[in-house]
Amino acid sequence: MVYYKAMKKVLVSGIQATGKLHFGNYFGAMKQNIELANSGEYESYIFVADYHALTTVKDKDALKQSALEIAAAYIACGLDLTKATLFRQSSVPEHTELATVFNNVVTMPYLMRAHAFKDHEAKDKEVNVGLFDYPVLMAADILIYQADVVPVGQDQKQHIEYARDIAGFYNRAWNVEQFKLPKEHIMDAVATVPGVDGAKMSKSKGNVISLFGTDEEVKKSVMGIVTDSKAPEEKKDPDTNNVYNIHKLFLTDEEVQALRAKFEDGGYGYKQAKDDLLATIMKWREGKKEVFDDLMNNQDKLRAILVDGGARAQSKARETIAQVRQQIGLKM
Ligand code: ATP
Ligand code: MG
Repeated sequence: MVYYKAMKKVLVSGIQATGKLHFGNYFGAMKQNIELANSGEYESYIFVADYHALTTVKDKDALKQSALEIAAAYIACGLDLTKATLFRQSSVPEHTELATVFNNVVTMPYLMRAHAFKDHEAKDKEVNVGLFDYPVLMAADILIYQADVVPVGQDQKQHIEYARDIAGFYNRAWNVEQFKLPKEHIMDAVATVPGVDGAKMSKSKGNVISLFGTDEEVKKSVMGIVTDSKAPEEKKDPDTNNVYNIHKLFLTDEEVQALRAKFEDGGYGYKQAKDDLLATIMKWREGKKEVFDDLMNNQDKLRAILVDGGARAQSKARETIAQVRQQIGLKM
């Protein structure tokens, strides 16, 4: 008689340590990650992508600060550490070893077709190799844990397709069945969260409403949301309106309908709409902000959590690397 151990599906997700976390990160990734991880249905690996952040961040204190804040934010937002492994990518250098192996089955023209590379190159011809190679490291992040599910925002969809391709390139090059092909997990309703300027909210663009900034910072961001110049009594189209598009993320379906009606009926000015959004955000932060501040004031505790998570992630990553080394001829 053969007994099979019931294997949980593996979930992997990372956030770059490039700055202050914002509601795009929360609604586009963290919220689902936390719900999926806390359900206990997955073996969950949630990491701070600090190697990835090096492509743009060259300030060591800023990098450390951002890494700690991301970890603290996950905990403050409710991640259950008994159900998820929370760690820093750089605690598991096997990610980079696997990326080095993958670099030999990925071509330059293939990487040149990546949206992120094309966008960056359009702005700056001197794109660094780390940024060019970003999809390969990301494929390694995902495949080293043999991920089944990778919850991401719409902006990361192509990177998951790349990870799937790269798994195939590896399997074919060495004629093995090493990597299964991962799926993305995008919540349609929150495909892309707009920033205060209406463009995609991004840490690196500074158009954010920060999750755990000071009350003053949050207020300033909300009051700075760009709107058209319609007077309070005029009717407004909710769908082309940044205040609505951000506010709706916090609301139930019923509340969304009520908010739409206010804009559509007229008599609901942008100042009032921003005050209401601010009140919603402040309510969301109740309880969470204290946990965040407490962890940031007790960084030893936070570091210990990350060291422990790193050790657990590394033991899984080492299993994959051992197989890879054997398959490609690096094991004597
Ligand atoms: P950067 O500007 O450095 O790229 P970012 O704000 O885009 O930072 P990332 O670390 O690249 O954040 O992404 C972390 C996660 O947050 C990813 O899963 C990504 O899909 C998601 N995400 C980031 N911005 C948004 C957004 N505006 N809407 C929805 N999801 C988002
Ligand atoms: Mg990004």
